Amino acid sequence: MTNKEAIRWLHTAEILDLCNGNSKDRQAVNLAIDALRKTIPEPPYENDTMYQCPYCRRSLTYKTCVKKTYEYCPKCGQRILWWNIATGNK
Ligand SMILES: [Zn+2]
Repeated sequence: MTNKEAIRWLHTAEILDLCNGNSKDRQAVNLAIDALRKTIPEPPYENDTMYQCPYCRRSLTYKTCVKKTYEYCPKCGQRILWWNIATGNK
């Protein structure tokens, strides 16, 4: 099972039925979904001068310095997809 498949599974009515209306169970499922989602690389958000985390918008690097950057956001842990930035492909 991949992380994307696990996220789909955790969103199903079947798993939510297992929570049986328990708010702590639902909170745990939502935290698991959020943690799994952050392992799936996402391209950074970009403004005029900076690349930022697509999840929390923390500044990651200046656009002129892409090679010195983070694989994961140091604030929230979101995995960052840089390959399209490095190659110029969008
Ligand atoms: Zn972040």
